[in-house]
Amino acid sequence: MFLNVLKAYYSSDKDVIFAGNTSENYVALTFDDGPHPVDDHALLDVLDKHGVKATFFLLGKHMEAHPEHTKEISKRGHEIGNHSFSHNWTVTFPVSQTSIKQEILRTNDIIEEITGVRPSYFRPPRLVQGKKIARVLKELEMKSIIASAFTLDFIWQEDPQAIFEGVKAMISPGCIIVLHSGHADHGARKQKRRDGTIVAVDLLLSYLRENGYGVGTVTALLDR
Ligand SMILES: [Zn+2]
Repeated sequence: MFLNVLKAYYSSDKDVIFAGNTSENYVALTFDDGPHPVDDHALLDVLDKHGVKATFFLLGKHMEAHPEHTKEISKRGHEIGNHSFSHNWTVTFPVSQTSIKQEILRTNDIIEEITGVRPSYFRPPRLVQGKKIARVLKELEMKSIIASAFTLDFIWQEDPQAIFEGVKAMISPGCIIVLHSGHADHGARKQKRRDGTIVAVDLLLSYLRENGYGVGTVTALLDR
């Protein structure tokens, strides 16, 4: 339902990516709103256990507070994308093109400084972006990555099974899954736990493997 609304919203915009073009059983796994000061290690261990690399759309404000976590995510072979610096509503509805460009560039700079790699993907907070962001991304030659499989993992932390079932219902070849490894609206130092999502990721990756699905980063998906 929400996916149809999103797709209608973007109908005239060819520069946003909802899914890969492949008909292979392959999906991309992405995480938003991190890095998380407590739960990242457990999440990275689950990904390692399944031999899966993912794409993390991280926030500038959280990376500034937790550069070591950001580095660890990159060091363990995962891809890092830009999810804005602040995640404020002023990102979704920017007052000017200059202000949103600042947000995006500042976050690109932080990612490059910590990991040595300049990101080429942006994920708009709330999965919604207007023309100002679209113009800035075009100018910076960045791709906008939306998603096509998601659930309410940001409110269902107590129920990993529900998170897993929610995503499972939306899986199709080429889809881009989004889950949340951090909390956008929390201060940089302290965030509520993401342990429910981590259990759900373990269930999801077992399910995908048993059903013949490959899982990887956004780049790995788009290369197919
Ligand atoms: Zn977010």
